Amino acid sequence: MEKEGLKGYRGAAKEKLISLKARVWGDVVVDTSRGEFRGIILPRSETADDQHIVLKLHNGYNIGLHIETVNKIEELGYRKAHYKIPEKSFPIDPDKPKVTLFGTGGTIASRLDYRTGAVIPAFSPGELYGAVPELVDVCNLNTIKLYGEFSENIGREHWIGVAKAIAEAIEDGADGIVVGHGTDTMHHTAAALTFMVQDSPVPIIIVGSQRSSDRPSSDAALNLINACRAAGYGEIAEVLVCMFGPTSDQYDLLHRGTRVRKMHSSYRSTFRTIGERPMAMVSTSEYVPLRDDYRRRRKDNLKVKLTPVFDDRVSIVYYYPNMKPDIIDSLVDNGYKGIVIAGTGLGHVNRPLYPSLKRAYEAGVHIYMTVQTLWGYVQMFVYDTGRDILDLGVVPLDNMLPEVAYVKLGWALGQTHERDEVKDIMLTPIADEITAREPIDGYLVMQGGLPEVKEFFKSYKR
Ligand code: ASP
Repeated sequence: MEKEGLKGYRGAAKEKLISLKARVWGDVVVDTSRGEFRGIILPRSETADDQHIVLKLHNGYNIGLHIETVNKIEELGYRKAHYKIPEKSFPIDPDKPKVTLFGTGGTIASRLDYRTGAVIPAFSPGELYGAVPELVDVCNLNTIKLYGEFSENIGREHWIGVAKAIAEAIEDGADGIVVGHGTDTMHHTAAALTFMVQDSPVPIIIVGSQRSSDRPSSDAALNLINACRAAGYGEIAEVLVCMFGPTSDQYDLLHRGTRVRKMHSSYRSTFRTIGERPMAMVSTSEYVPLRDDYRRRRKDNLKVKLTPVFDDRVSIVYYYPNMKPDIIDSLVDNGYKGIVIAGTGLGHVNRPLYPSLKRAYEAGVHIYMTVQTLWGYVQMFVYDTGRDILDLGVVPLDNMLPEVAYVKLGWALGQTHERDEVKDIMLTPIADEITAREPIDGYLVMQGGLPEVKEFFKSYKR
């Protein structure tokens, strides 16, 4: 069957559809061990499992049928046209801010029709309006599709491309920028844009969705609405990630681009600020800064400081017990110029690695230490072993997150290979990638029920 007819289905679910001669958009009667169901077979999110076939019932509900329960599918018709998102013209309101939305891919870019549950490539302002009509009340939208990649495929070339596009849109007078992005590597991109696009006069908000819109629990629409609000009206003119705060549909948190990390593979509230408080909460009715040390929106001088460079001959070495020196040697032998170690505890690796690290240093490789605990600081003066590693030329990065250190080192090496200059760039924080101290409420690992976090954040309201 042609690709279109099985859209998004893979593995066992795809086999099942093929064996039962069924196709996406087929208006069908499905005979299952749980009874008979009549509806239209919807395309499947590519990130979803391969065990279910999704059916849109005629009452409007979507259900997932486990393939093992499905015995027979009889096609009565074909209803594709019915699901097209209506292209409504997006009304322009001169009183509303101008927001430019860049698409790079990920779940949010391709499955925005949360009302019909259809899988569609919604991207023009008109399509977005059809899918998320609330956007009209928020801003005037200009959309530009830069890429269509799941975020594991986003890297150097895309970071540079997005950074340049943002600078151009800001110079053209956008009041705020939104970047739609897959969530998996959103924090890498957030760090890259923080370094590449500095001194922005307007907010640069990165947004995604953890659940595809073919599920009723999708976070796509709310995240997008809140991101557009934060971009169009928010006071914090920095690179920020906007994603669900609690697990329920209450509000989003804005996280600084260098302190944010994806911390859960499936929760919608997956992004957390590490070692600090988030910057703000934003909902459809409120925008509450949680800190006051931020760069404010400005109207003069629309130029950003753009440094779109990245040397990708950098690696993160996540230390594990029994690691052999050949791991480090092979990086050096293959021409890598930078190594970020995510060390144990306060920043350690085992003794057998020492000669390799020395060799790497002497070969001109820039080696930096971070901690795999994520929270807390590298402190290499506490134990002798830490001092020994320092003596090999390894530079501690305080509380910089390993992925941020990776991005920053690539960015620094894009500018210079002079050891002291690289070190200077690495150790001079641009946007809190290193902070002087970790506030007591910066260690916020929420486990279990989450909505009470709102109460917690409210105590910071001034
Ligand atoms: N795998 C997807 C991505 O990162 C997940 C998402 O979009 O949230 O592109």
